[in-house]
Amino acid sequence: MSESLTDTAQKAGMKLAFDPNALRDKYRTERDKRLRTDGNQQYVEIAGDFARFEDDPYVAPGFTRAPLTDEVDVVVIGGGFGGLLAGARLRQAGIKSIRMIEKGGDFGGTWYWNRYPGAACDIESYIYLPLLEEVNYIPKEKYSHGPEILAHSQAIARKFDLYDGACFQTEVTGMEWDEAISRWIISTNLGDRMKARYVAMSNGPLNKPKLPGIPGIETFKGHTFHTSRWDYAYTGGDSNGNLNKLGDKRVAIIGTGATAVQCVPHLGAAARHLYVFQRTPSSVDVRNNPRTDPEWANNLEPGWQQKRMNNFNILVTGGHQDEDLVNDGWTDLFRNLGSIVPTAGNEMSAGGRTNLMELADLQKMEQIRARAQAIVDDPATAEALKPYYRQFCKRPCMHEDYLPTFNRTNVTLVDTQGKGVQRITEKGIVVDGKEYEVDCIVFSTGFEVGTGYTHQSGYDLIGRDGVRLSQKWAEGLRTFHGMFSHGFPNCFFMGMTQTGFTPNLPHMLNEQSMHISYILKRAMGSNAGNIEASEEAESEWVGTIKRLAQLNQGFYEECTPGYYNNEGKPGDSGGFLTSAYGGGPEEFFAMWKSWREDGGMNGLHLS
Ligand code: NDP
Repeated sequence: MSESLTDTAQKAGMKLAFDPNALRDKYRTERDKRLRTDGNQQYVEIAGDFARFEDDPYVAPGFTRAPLTDEVDVVVIGGGFGGLLAGARLRQAGIKSIRMIEKGGDFGGTWYWNRYPGAACDIESYIYLPLLEEVNYIPKEKYSHGPEILAHSQAIARKFDLYDGACFQTEVTGMEWDEAISRWIISTNLGDRMKARYVAMSNGPLNKPKLPGIPGIETFKGHTFHTSRWDYAYTGGDSNGNLNKLGDKRVAIIGTGATAVQCVPHLGAAARHLYVFQRTPSSVDVRNNPRTDPEWANNLEPGWQQKRMNNFNILVTGGHQDEDLVNDGWTDLFRNLGSIVPTAGNEMSAGGRTNLMELADLQKMEQIRARAQAIVDDPATAEALKPYYRQFCKRPCMHEDYLPTFNRTNVTLVDTQGKGVQRITEKGIVVDGKEYEVDCIVFSTGFEVGTGYTHQSGYDLIGRDGVRLSQKWAEGLRTFHGMFSHGFPNCFFMGMTQTGFTPNLPHMLNEQSMHISYILKRAMGSNAGNIEASEEAESEWVGTIKRLAQLNQGFYEECTPGYYNNEGKPGDSGGFLTSAYGGGPEEFFAMWKSWREDGGMNGLHLS
C-alpha cells in the first residue's frame, strides 16, 4: 500500500499547519467543477465574423510589395525569440543567405503582439532575454517590461543583420517540397513563391488568440478586443497604463490568467467600473522587481547568462544546485523542498519522495492562499481569489498590484464558481442569471493550444510524394528529436514539438537554435545537402515520448483544466505540455549535446 501524506510528513519531520488529505479532496472537488466534455472545443476560432480580433493594430492596413520568387539558403519563419535565435546562431555559423519571414510589422513575436498595459515578463529578465552577452545588454530591472523586451528583440535582429532581406507583414500560406530541385517553395499572402534549401519554423506556441465559446458572444453591441491586440485608440494610454479614455466606461474583462493579472490593475485604476469575470483564479505570488544593480552587472564574468539559465532550469525541474541564483517565486517551491529533503534523508521510497513533493507544493499554495487572504479586504472576494490546485497545474503568476485592485470600490470580482460566463447579451454579461451591463469587453482568454500544428501555424506543408503534414500528424505529432519529420526533408521544427520543455522558453529555443546551426553547418559543409529523419528513428522517438509522457500523466490528471493539461484531457494528444519530453529539459539537452559530440548524425539521412 502506498504511503500516506501524513506518514511521509511525519517521517520527514515536517510540522504541517494544514490537513493534506482535506486539501487533496478540495483540489479534486475544484477540478471536477471545471471538467467539461467539450475540452478544447469550448473555444471559438478567430475567423469569419471574428477575424478582426486578429488584425494587426500596429501597422497601416493594405500593405503590399512585389512578389518574390528568388532563392535563399535558409528561410526562418517567425520573427519572435525562436526565429531571432535561429537567425543569430545561423549567422554565427557563417551562413549568409538567410531570410526571415514574419507576420507582424517588425521583430518581437509575442512581445510585438502583446502590448497590453502592464505587459512584462515574469521570468527573470537576465535569463529570459536571449543573447544578452552577444548584444552586450543588461536589462534595467529583474523583470523587464514589454517595451524593453520588444526593443531587445529588434537589437538582436540588428546585431545579426536579420533585417537584411526580411519580409514583414508576410504570412506563409503554404510550403511545398520540390523533389526535382531539392528546394522548399514557400507561398505567402503577398503572392510570393520563394525557394529555400532549408526552412526553420518558429511559429510560436501561443500565437493565435482564441475567444471563449460563450452563447451570445456575437450579439454584444459594445466595444470588444482581445488582450493580444490591445485597442489603445479606445482605452487611451499605452503599455505603461494611464488608460485615460476609460474614466466614463464600464469595462468587463473575461479571464484571469497571466495576462489578466498584469492588465487588471491598469483597468481597475482607469475604468469607471471594472468587472473581472473569473472561472479559475491564478496563483499570484510576490514578484519584487528591483532595478539592476550596476555593480553586480559590472562584475559579471563571461558565460554568466548560460550559467544562470542552467541554474534556474535545473532548480525548477527538481534538480539540485548549491546556490539559487534567480531566487524568486519560480524556484521557491524547490527551495522549500530542498530544505525538507536533507532532513528526510535519501532512504525514502520513490512514493515517499513523490509525497514530499506534493507536501512542499501544498505548503507553497497555502502561502499563496494566505497572501490573498491578507491582501483582499472582503472575505468572500479573498476566498474566491484563492487557487486550489498544484502550483504548476497552471502558469504561476507574480504581481504586487493584482490582488490589491480588488479592494478598489470601482472593481468587482464576478466569480463564476468554475462554470465560466453564462451568456453574453447585447448589453453585457450574464452570470447566475444576473446581467452586468458594460460598455466594453476585453477578452483575456488566451491562445489556441489544443488544435493541430498546421491550424495554429496557419499553413500546411506538402512534403515528399505529396504527403501533407496535417495528414501525417492527424493522430498526433511524429518527429525525430522534436525537430524533424520523415518525408519533410530540410525542414526544422522549433517550439513545443516533442522536445525538452522548460518554463524559460527562450532557453529551450536557444538549445534548438544551436542544434539547427550545428546540423546545417555539417550539411552545408559537405556534399550532402539534404537532411531527413529516418522512419525508424522517428518511430523510436515517438515511442520514447509516449512512454515518458505516462510519467507526468497522473500529475496532469489531478490538475484543474487549462491549456497545460489539454483542458482536462491530458491523455489525448494536443495539450501544450502533453507532447513534451517527459524526462525533463536537462536530460533532453544533455542527450542532444552528446548526439552532437558523437558526430554520427544518428537518425538522420544525409543525401
Ligand atoms: P490563459 O489561457 O492562461 O488564460 C485564459 C483565461 O480565460 C483563463 O483564466 C480561463 O479560465 C479564462 N476563460 C476561458 N474561457 C472562459 C469563459 N468561458 N468564462 C470565463 N473565463 C474563461 O491566457 P493568458 O493570455 O492569460 O496567458 C497565456 C500564457 O501567456 C500564459 O500562461 C503564459 O505562459 C504567457 N504569459 C506570460 C507572461 C510572462 O510574464 N512571461 C505574461 C502573460 C502571459 P480557466 O483557467 O478556468 O480556463
